Amino acid sequence: MQENKETQKQLPWIFQCSGSSNVGQATNDACKLLYWEEKAKIGCVAAIGAHIENFVVPNRSGRKVICVDGCSNNCASRTLDEAGIKPEVCLVVTDLGIKKNMDMKYGQEEVQKVKTELEKYL
Ligand code: SF4
Repeated sequence: MQENKETQKQLPWIFQCSGSSNVGQATNDACKLLYWEEKAKIGCVAAIGAHIENFVVPNRSGRKVICVDGCSNNCASRTLDEAGIKPEVCLVVTDLGIKKNMDMKYGQEEVQKVKTELEKYL
């Protein structure tokens, strides 16, 4: 995929949970779709948690920062908070009516539901 650098510079930056549950994986899939459609950039929450300096830049980027957690444990938003990153938008996927399970089974319906919700904030 060829990126338009000017467009990419303005895109919101999503930091998503990609936890080992249906909601974490559906969240990650939804964010990948938005990335492939060139509607958002996506970031590495784990790298921020590991204090990798090159990744701790959202506050300096001027982009809107959106955080998406799979469940109310809020791992992604807590990780951003500890790094001093203040998202403009925080979403929790279980609040959308998707029940968390640990069997990793989810479908396109859940992925599309998360994607559609995120698109409201892009
Ligand atoms: S927010 Fe929930 S689903 Fe996501 S990594 Fe944390 S515990 Fe797992």
